[in-house]
Amino acid sequence: MKSLKIFIVLIAFTFSVSAKKEAETKLSWDAIKVADNLYMLIGVGGFTGGNLAISVGDDGVILIDDAMPSTLDIMNKALAKITPNSIDFLINTHIHGDHTGNNEVMGKNGARIVAHKNMRRHLLSKGVRGADGKKMDAPKKSLPVITFSESMDFHLNGLDAHVFHLPHAHTDGDAAVHFTNVNVIHMGDTMFNKIFPFMDFSSGGTLDGYIEAQKTVLGLVDENTKIIPGHGVLANKKDLENSITMLEDARAIIGKLVDEDKTEEEVVKLNPLAKYDAWSWGFITTEKMTKQVYKGVSLSGE
Ligand SMILES: [Zn+2]
Repeated sequence: MKSLKIFIVLIAFTFSVSAKKEAETKLSWDAIKVADNLYMLIGVGGFTGGNLAISVGDDGVILIDDAMPSTLDIMNKALAKITPNSIDFLINTHIHGDHTGNNEVMGKNGARIVAHKNMRRHLLSKGVRGADGKKMDAPKKSLPVITFSESMDFHLNGLDAHVFHLPHAHTDGDAAVHFTNVNVIHMGDTMFNKIFPFMDFSSGGTLDGYIEAQKTVLGLVDENTKIIPGHGVLANKKDLENSITMLEDARAIIGKLVDEDKTEEEVVKLNPLAKYDAWSWGFITTEKMTKQVYKGVSLSGE
């Protein structure tokens, strides 16, 4: 009987170890060529962090965002397939750890980090999470060394990259990168494609600013534009239009309930965004989206 017990424990242990290994090994980054010298990197097999973009060529390597510490190894593997060279410039679209989690490593390896000035300000005041999950001061090498207020431009590898600020959208330090001469734009987390977005009100994001940011970008794109969202698959103009439609509709539906002085709890109970259930995902469920829009409308003072 005792040996049977040990056997069962052993089997269970073997299964849990192999399941963990499988979970670790099934994650990877896929590279999608979006233009000459320009790739989008998207995680497959689970959550690997925000979507990346990389430009390679005679003038150097520019990386947009750098995911999370837990996916550094597989990210490096994917980057090595594209270029043997190290990163010269790293552009952070915003402060969140799933977009900036490897900044210190990148900085130590010589990358010059570029971001909106508010992103650097937040990084200095809020700090980062260490390997143990605890808050700590942002390491010096993780900080942007070049910041901008409105916009700036890179002219490297045959690409004209217009980096510009979208105010009070996902945060108050959002940057989008528009590769104007090849019709590609990386929107950071001002765009989640086909899934509910997240708005970080505690970092200066707003519901109306978020919608406004998407409308600003809509004015820059055409039917052939490749839109790299912060999360979700490669998007196009139609996807951006669908996102704006969903957000404006959600705002109108919940705005009306706020006007009727309904509490958040009452609104959640009505499930007013049920028709958008297809947009629900692990991080932002329909209920969480309902609460977020409720808060966004309430904070807007209407
Ligand atoms: Zn984010």
